[in-house]
Amino acid sequence: MEKTIAAVATGNAAGGIGVIRISGENAVEIADKVFFAADGSSLSELKGYRAKYGSIMEQGKPLDNAVALVFRAPKSYTGEDVCELSVHGGIFIVEKTLEAVFNAGAVPAEAGEFTKRAFLNGKMDLTQAESVADLISAEGETAALASFNALQGSLSNKINSILQILTDCSANMAAWVDYPDEEIPDLEDEELEKSLSSAAKALKELVENYENGRAMIQGIDTAIAGRPNAGKSTLMNLLSGTDKSIVTNIEGTTRDIVEESVRLGSLVLHLSDTAGLRKSADKVEAIGIDRAYGKIESASLILPVFDSSRILNKEDIHLIELCRGKKAVAIINKTDLVQRADVDLITGAFEHYVFISAKNSKCTAEIENQIKELFGSSDFDASSPILANQRQKQCCRKAMDYIFDAVSSLVMGVTRDAVNVLIDSAIDELLSLTGKKANVEVVNNIFSKFCVGK
Ligand code: GDP
Repeated sequence: MEKTIAAVATGNAAGGIGVIRISGENAVEIADKVFFAADGSSLSELKGYRAKYGSIMEQGKPLDNAVALVFRAPKSYTGEDVCELSVHGGIFIVEKTLEAVFNAGAVPAEAGEFTKRAFLNGKMDLTQAESVADLISAEGETAALASFNALQGSLSNKINSILQILTDCSANMAAWVDYPDEEIPDLEDEELEKSLSSAAKALKELVENYENGRAMIQGIDTAIAGRPNAGKSTLMNLLSGTDKSIVTNIEGTTRDIVEESVRLGSLVLHLSDTAGLRKSADKVEAIGIDRAYGKIESASLILPVFDSSRILNKEDIHLIELCRGKKAVAIINKTDLVQRADVDLITGAFEHYVFISAKNSKCTAEIENQIKELFGSSDFDASSPILANQRQKQCCRKAMDYIFDAVSSLVMGVTRDAVNVLIDSAIDELLSLTGKKANVEVVNNIFSKFCVGK
């Protein structure tokens, strides 16, 4: 018998209410030992989806008023009997209530254990379980929508439809191989090839959309770079709406990387304001400049800032070179001043650029549009199935490769049982993606990244 587990389901901070979640065969029995309903009834008499008002008793003394909510297996988050005790959300009260629940027989839940039980009890598959963690950590609207849709099963449904195609092909071929003399309607090679290709194409689309999906969901690692005084810190502050980066007209003010995550419309940018690019004899500044180059190299998006009121210098030209072949939106700044820069050189080098006056204007919408265009996300549909992490991507990629191999083997006239081995390998990959065939280590690893209480 699985132990009955308990944990605080709300955050580790004072709030209006705090919820202690108990799950397992003895959940209601345990809750009954600490919760006393105002009408004198017992929670054990309660059907699922019912609540009672009462109080939490600790060592015979009332600790707090509370509401107990009862869910009956299998109609609960975990698929087990669940009882949630809502108390006032002071850290002390919540901790004391949890302690009372432990004293009554529950054991502390491990990280992600509630969701793990939901998965093991067939309440959700692995992609849905992973989306629970994503939904909790979502920082923006797109991320929340994408995770919510995954939780509703958008990716699972897509993968299951691909699995259906593969299992149909595999079953038919296996029958044909096993009973060659029987009158089994034989799938024509051409038809088989068409089905397999459609499955591979669907997987290819998922894999190819992965990077953009990631950028939209997890946010884009963005480096703001440029020569000193170009307006990098002003841009950073404009985007983040704070004065975190120090803005002065003294060169070399930002000596190290200043980081901030900001929401820009539906995008989330993880911004790094880097040190001004120039030759510097100052040791500390030189380290900052080295780091700036490192950040330009590693970022998923560069916002190179150019001061259009000054003639472009060596560093500007070098920066243009560094951005070549990378995702970048050129920020042509200080358009409120007399223009001296050879702007054509910038607009000729970058497909995406904006003219702004970071100091005076609200130009964030145009920057957002350019970034969305660059990431092909203007028409990004967060409600479509999206792969959420490397694990999912690797499973899809391997499955896709097996199917492409199967198609070329068919074309080359390789025996059907050999082709079927490839199809079965693809099926295995997709089953491990949804968790129907995932190994224990993979499953444990996924849930260990959750917070306790989820
Ligand atoms: P950084 O060294 O690239 O981070 O540059 P800062 O953001 O510190 O800006 C350098 C100077 O340029 C500051 O005095 C800013 O107020 C000024 N500045 C930034 N953007 C603009 C702009 O669009 N127009 C004008 N006129 N000044 C700006």
